[in-house]
Amino acid sequence: ADLLEMRNIHKVYPNGTKANQGVSFSVRQGEIHALVGENGAGKSTLMKILFGLESPTEGDIFYRGDKVVLKSPKDAIKYEIGMVHQHFMLVPSFTVAQNIVLGSEPTKGVLSDHQKAIAETQRLIQEFGLKVDPNAKVENISVGLKQRVEILKVLYRGARLIILDEPTAVLTPQETDELFQSLKKLVSQGYTIIFITHKLNEVMEISDRITVLRAGKTISTLITSETSKEE
Ligand code: ADP
Ligand code: ADP
Repeated sequence: ADLLEMRNIHKVYPNGTKANQGVSFSVRQGEIHALVGENGAGKSTLMKILFGLESPTEGDIFYRGDKVVLKSPKDAIKYEIGMVHQHFMLVPSFTVAQNIVLGSEPTKGVLSDHQKAIAETQRLIQEFGLKVDPNAKVENISVGLKQRVEILKVLYRGARLIILDEPTAVLTPQETDELFQSLKKLVSQGYTIIFITHKLNEVMEISDRITVLRAGKTISTLITSETSKEE
């Protein structure tokens, strides 16, 4: 069954820019779904709509078959949607563990109790195999590790559908490899990934399906894997 469906999404910005002009696509539980298009194709706008940062001018969103209205990131989190932005939003002077629990409920107790934050982080690392030192200050770790912290952070918040916006843009080839391994592991555990990129070739191998956007419209959905989750 579809986990998510975006149906006939239109978005006109206040200045008249038509960023999405009838985009439809669906995402199945447990797949890596790539959303590919050139700069300006409307990918970010679509993901902002999905994360409750912009409202669609027209169109509907269904989550687990129910029509949903996402008015803010809080709503998105309620529907277990997590977003890993292209630009990290971590606090450099905080440790990895503090960054992971920051902004989650119940925040205060865990933030002030660093041992507890570390224990929570270690539990996540165990479960997902995304290795990083919970005690390290974020300002001292590599870009690849910062991205791992962002992924752990959305997992800590309970995300089941994770949107990654141009996740390889800042990574070395080796970090990209490690990211892909992590994503494969996550889908094997039942998580669902939306992978946004302008590079079709980089997602050919890793994704189950690819939706191509051009000039604000969906032009096709490609199936790349034999094991794509049919139901
Ligand atoms: P992509 O992520 O594929 O690069 P975007 O969704 O960022 O595409 O942009 C689609 C179009 O909408 C572009 O022409 C862009 O300049 C425009 N756009 C994006 N955000 C805004 C905004 N807040 N106001 C007006 N136009 C915007
Ligand atoms: P991204 O590549 O992540 O979409 P951009 O640099 O394109 O980031 O956009 C940065 C911010 O500026 C976004 O919030 C986007 O909505 C906004 N933006 C992009 N294009 C326009 C535009 N033509 N007019 C107004 N805002 C825009």
